[in-house]
Amino acid sequence: MARGNKEESIRIALFSMEIGIDHKMPTYGGGLGILAGDILRSCADMRVPIVAVTLAINKGSLFQRLDDEGNQIELPADWRIDDFTTLMAPKVSVPIEDRVVKIQAWKYLMTGIGGYQVPVYFLDTNLFENSTSDREITYYLYGGDERYRLLQEIVLGIGGVRMLNALGYTNIRKHHLNEGHSALVTLELIKKIKEDNPEYKHEQIIESVRKKCIFTTHTPVQAGHDRFPAQLAKSLLRGFGNGEIDEICHGNELNMTLLALEYSEYINGVAKKHGEISRNMFPGYPIDSITNGVHHVFWTSEPFRKLYDTCIGGWRKDPFDLRYVVSIPKEEIILAHAEAKKRLIDLVNARHGIGMDYDTFTLGFARRVAMYKRADLIFSNPDRLVNIAKNTGPIQIILAGKAHPSDIEGKELIKTIFGDIKRLKDDIKVVFLENYDMELAKLIIPGVDVWLNTPKRPLEASGTSGMKASLNGVPSLSILDGWWLEGCIEGVTGWAIGSVATDQSDDSKDAEDLYDKLERVILPMFYSNGGAWAQIMRYTIAFNSSFFNSHRMVQQYLLNAYFP
Ligand SMILES: *Cc1c(COP(=O)(O)O)cnc(C)c1O
Repeated sequence: MARGNKEESIRIALFSMEIGIDHKMPTYGGGLGILAGDILRSCADMRVPIVAVTLAINKGSLFQRLDDEGNQIELPADWRIDDFTTLMAPKVSVPIEDRVVKIQAWKYLMTGIGGYQVPVYFLDTNLFENSTSDREITYYLYGGDERYRLLQEIVLGIGGVRMLNALGYTNIRKHHLNEGHSALVTLELIKKIKEDNPEYKHEQIIESVRKKCIFTTHTPVQAGHDRFPAQLAKSLLRGFGNGEIDEICHGNELNMTLLALEYSEYINGVAKKHGEISRNMFPGYPIDSITNGVHHVFWTSEPFRKLYDTCIGGWRKDPFDLRYVVSIPKEEIILAHAEAKKRLIDLVNARHGIGMDYDTFTLGFARRVAMYKRADLIFSNPDRLVNIAKNTGPIQIILAGKAHPSDIEGKELIKTIFGDIKRLKDDIKVVFLENYDMELAKLIIPGVDVWLNTPKRPLEASGTSGMKASLNGVPSLSILDGWWLEGCIEGVTGWAIGSVATDQSDDSKDAEDLYDKLERVILPMFYSNGGAWAQIMRYTIAFNSSFFNSHRMVQQYLLNAYFP
């Protein structure tokens, strides 16, 4: 493959600030990185010629402990990159201020179902040649101030292009910028195109770079788009010509999203609705959408893997076959879910000793604790919740999620939820599990009866954990935003909270609707109509998993972006 080999075949290069490969490699924070991991898992299975570049995150993303009050205690994740990857020989450097920063790369090979391997390179500035502070550039995920962040993005974008070249990947067909963090790829491409074609005019340069870039935007929240003062960019990147920096800045700022939009031929949002919102946010750019998906084998629990292996043999290779789950007997689906649920309940009881039971209706909610996700909506009217549990049927609730270390509000929210948990404890058992990561997600999501999602509209670009739930026969109860606008067939694949009639969410209306659904529809069916319940589980898999998987997503990237 790529060892300075001139015959190197054509490749797609994916650039992502985070990639979730394995929970033991804490270089990811949440949905964005895990999605990148799923893209690569599918590419490996489907033999898509892709190579990925990300940062080493030497100190790991945070390990979360929670004390009795719900204070988040942040411990460094304990990991060594050389336990998982191999150090490559080439080193490259990027000019920063008046010095050069050296970068090395660690290679991880992701192996697909048929043995095809996709290389992932972790860029690392932790070298003796660098000063102490430069060595720390790749230590923390989304850590530090804006200067630190821009340094990381210089390493990822500019360092990433240089490293691929040094590793012998000289035939990159498209650079896929997964979110704006890697938009400085374009600066390096501009520089190269100018060197190779000194006669090119501005328009020709833009055209040439565009042919080489694809951009996926992931957030409809303005604050989620990286922006830096142009002065800071000019100061850090003074090794580039001022003319070049002017070309990538807009007025007084370097806006990574605008930069990626300007220099990409193909641009997409991550769900239909998110595409529409992005077109409104950035008028004039041809923004398409490719709805996210999750890797079907990776996110299916053991009991369901066994069931699918027995009943729909081809599903591992071809997840479209999950459609044929409609013909699996309901009893088999009920049994597989009971096994997944038992594993979760046993874990909860072992850790928290609160005696949750296997037969009680169990609601799950786990994701990054960000305010717009409203993890506490379910507790907004505790009396009503208790009444429902008393009069309609018992409820137990399992929660998890980390707040970003600098997210004060998010940390307060966890404490508020701990207060709610204490107040409810005589009537409803609720636990908040520590350190939500990919491993815990694989236990919680398949083990609950209903997967809850209550974001403030229209802020959920896509959401992916509900897709993981559907693979395991777990229906969603969710706000109609992101992927759920496409995946919800009311009373068939799950249930909606609220409507799409208004643009903005109303917390109290959404909460009332959530309680109404639980009281009038979901709990009565769960406790007295097992047949109807199993039918929903079956449709959830057949309709949603056969579509919201990363094999389908990668096929759409191939068709529309990688090899149009
Ligand atoms: C899937 C996953 C996420 C993303 O879930 P959303 O529903 O998209 O917020 C975040 N963290 C972990 C550990 C996950 O497995």
